[in-house]
Amino acid sequence: MKLSELKELDDTYHMPTYARLPVTFVKGRGTRLWDDNGKEYLDLLSGIGVVNVGHCHPEVTAAIQGQAESLMHVSNLFYTQPQLELAKKITEISFGERCFFANSGAEANEGAIKLARRYAKLKDSDAYEIITALRSFHGRTMKTLAATGQLDKHKPFEPLPPGFKHVPLNDIDILMGAVTENTCAIMLEVIQGEGGVYECDADYLKQVRQLCDERDILLIFDEVQTGMGRTGAMFAYQGVGVEPDVMTLAKGIGSGMPIGVLVANAKAGSSFKPGEHGSTFGGGPVVCAAALATIKVIEDESLVENSRETGAYVKIKLEAMKAKGAPIKEIRGAGLMLAIELDGESAKELVVALLDKGIVANNIGSNIIRFLPPLCITRDEIDYAFGVVESLMV
Ligand SMILES: *Cc1c(COP(=O)(O)O)cnc(C)c1O
Repeated sequence: MKLSELKELDDTYHMPTYARLPVTFVKGRGTRLWDDNGKEYLDLLSGIGVVNVGHCHPEVTAAIQGQAESLMHVSNLFYTQPQLELAKKITEISFGERCFFANSGAEANEGAIKLARRYAKLKDSDAYEIITALRSFHGRTMKTLAATGQLDKHKPFEPLPPGFKHVPLNDIDILMGAVTENTCAIMLEVIQGEGGVYECDADYLKQVRQLCDERDILLIFDEVQTGMGRTGAMFAYQGVGVEPDVMTLAKGIGSGMPIGVLVANAKAGSSFKPGEHGSTFGGGPVVCAAALATIKVIEDESLVENSRETGAYVKIKLEAMKAKGAPIKEIRGAGLMLAIELDGESAKELVVALLDKGIVANNIGSNIIRFLPPLCITRDEIDYAFGVVESLMV
């Protein structure tokens, strides 16, 4: 079908939720995408930080195919091997001791919110409030929307469920002042993604950890975007040296299969009793096989190291562009989760111009451009892509 026909179908039959760019992608491989005219693109977005190992990685594809041929679904009334192998693997590579599987980032965060309340109740506390950061993003369900610290996103859906307080990032005094006997958890992104790529200071996170320990409230890191090597560590908490009690994962762990994971340490991880939380699809054999293969590829191909080293290389290139006079106000992020804040309001125009030149990137609002390339991207590809970025900016 032609783009114009798809656009008409979208305009007619899909809810008007997405402002899509005018491209139909039909194929992906590694760092490359192809549209329906056969035009090749270099992907600096990874489907919003999802295809960390590259598009259609042969080992991930084979894992999905193999599992889809033997068993796709039986529900969690029974045991399946990929799910429990994946739970074990995640605890081996993280602080976590127990996992629960959901189907998306928002749903993993819903689980984290429920877990924090359950943890408090098991201590005979009625604490229910969760403190999150302004500018944060935690999802689109009613609760995760309420957790999201972007008040303009709340407006169309008010009243939102109660129980969330938002504080400015990196200000420990305000956070300490916000904690009350009603607080059951603090939830943060180690690097805010959708909000515009803003990093938590490592010192701040250490103080938050201490605060949570003193008050026996849970520290939840939403690593839906920062996890799976994205920031130059397997999980961003490792990069800053602060362990949460609970972590959520989604985007990069399934290479495009819908999966969310709630990971918890021993003290929080046993709070749900049978029947208190669940999912029909969560932890299904196909998505878990895809996630196991994805983690194996991240390890086998040293993609965490590549994310860290190539990310540092991109930052140097961006600094050089700025020095040459590109209208860049600030360069932010870590590993291959990077953004430039522009002096002007031309982010969308720049993203459209890049797309025309065969490079996929993403703008956040009118003045931030975000880069989330597959973690397997090479320096040659970076040189090429940022050469094009520079040609449009300097
Ligand atoms: C994308 C994102 C979510 C929501 O994930 P969905 O899979 O879209 O529900 C939650 N938290 C963070 C930090 C994200 O980047």
